[in-house]
Amino acid sequence: MSKPELQQLLLDLRARGCRLSASREALLTVVAKAKQPLSAAAIIKSAAIKRTGSDRATVYRALAFWEREGVIESLRLEGDERLYHLNLHHHHHLVCTACQQVFSVHACQSLRKTEAEITRATGFQVQRHVLEFYGLCHRCVEKNK
Ligand SMILES: [Zn+2]
Ligand SMILES: [Zn+2]
Ligand SMILES: [Zn+2]
Repeated sequence: MSKPELQQLLLDLRARGCRLSASREALLTVVAKAKQPLSAAAIIKSAAIKRTGSDRATVYRALAFWEREGVIESLRLEGDERLYHLNLHHHHHLVCTACQQVFSVHACQSLRKTEAEITRATGFQVQRHVLEFYGLCHRCVEKNK
């Protein structure tokens, strides 16, 4: 996320009534700027968090806060470690099984159609869905050539 986008997001969150303490703001900044989902350990070690003097408990509380607000998502893919990234729009994950990187994709139209078909066929009202794609990212495909 670019700097102006981040500034806008912070303004929007303030307008929504979110109280932005130094640690909450620093946390969101770290997660928004990261190109990849981050572990809590990586977040705690980041310079922006260190500057606020936040301890582990404060960081975890701030993470829980942004998760409740629906701004940050915590992923548990394989293994126990949770990874955190922005969750501003509905998306799916592409998980590279070679380098473990996680990418987000926002394409979901065909799944919306599937949801409508499910409702038509079964009467089940779908509220949400979660879908992860596992495979090789373009870099790892190149490397294996
Ligand atoms: Zn996600
Ligand atoms: Zn890869
Ligand atoms: Zn979807």
